[in-house]
Amino acid sequence: MIVKQVSESIKMKKLKVILRRLSPHFPMRKEIEDEVARSNAGYRGEKSLDYHLEILPNENCYILHDLRLPHGTQFFQIDVLIITPHFLLIIEVKNMAGTLHFDQEFNQLIRINNEMEETYPSPISQIYRQKFLFSEWLKKHLSHTIPIESLVVISNPHTRILATPETHDLSQRVIHSNHLLANFHMFNKIHKKEILTKREIKKLSRLLLKEHTYTNPDILQQYNILEKDILKGVFCPKCDTLPMIRNKKKWYCSNCRFYSKDAHVQALRDFAILFGPIISNSQCCNFLQISSSNVAQYILTSLQFPTSGTNRGRKYQISFEGEV
Ligand SMILES: [Zn+2]
Repeated sequence: MIVKQVSESIKMKKLKVILRRLSPHFPMRKEIEDEVARSNAGYRGEKSLDYHLEILPNENCYILHDLRLPHGTQFFQIDVLIITPHFLLIIEVKNMAGTLHFDQEFNQLIRINNEMEETYPSPISQIYRQKFLFSEWLKKHLSHTIPIESLVVISNPHTRILATPETHDLSQRVIHSNHLLANFHMFNKIHKKEILTKREIKKLSRLLLKEHTYTNPDILQQYNILEKDILKGVFCPKCDTLPMIRNKKKWYCSNCRFYSKDAHVQALRDFAILFGPIISNSQCCNFLQISSSNVAQYILTSLQFPTSGTNRGRKYQISFEGEV
């Protein structure tokens, strides 16, 4: 049973909005595009794993995606955690195409794709670290000792996995996603003793959800993006042209002649993701590119956002379900 679904991180939502609203000539645009592509691949890889997770024996098997747990003043992340009565399983998902060369001598991963060679930190070292930190976390929160298994799962079925020096050991730790069921059965055979009751599994899963901490990195600062670098206005929902023009309580697209009543909702969502959920009337005018404060007030009031302050100091809390 999947108790915490895979979802787009706040960082990824921010990056997507930034990319959509960033001038095409911004110097670090390519780096941002690369980061969005990497985050997207990671998200799709984990999403595709659900197909294999859903066929695991369901009874008393709790699955949590994307956990970020505290360790002292730092945090560690787990892509997928499976809690069973007999063992816990940590999965690190890699969605990488091409040939993956696990260099076990120097603990690095070399990816060869389209004749390009790139080096990454070893996912084996990554899961070793996660396993260690998670066992430390468990010592604080669980009175029993339970075996922790870990796997690197390669979500792209066409990715070739190689190792130097050649060892059979690697095939126990790095698998393709379609082999997950077989590995799961193997772990079940090794760990026969029931350690956690159904109630304890539920309790642990609740605690993990409570301890999970979102990260909200300042991407604008990271890439040195100033407010003036962000394109303002309302996008046309039909042809993606910017900006639409406010006319008689509607938005008009001069490119495809589409009229929209609520195209500003997406723009306000973008504002909240980039700058936080509080907006004033003048910020709304500026971001939606409207000249009349009465129109801004009409828009913000009709969306029934909670307010604080009065008159010119009034702020609106633009919160959307599932957003920052
Ligand atoms: Zn249009």
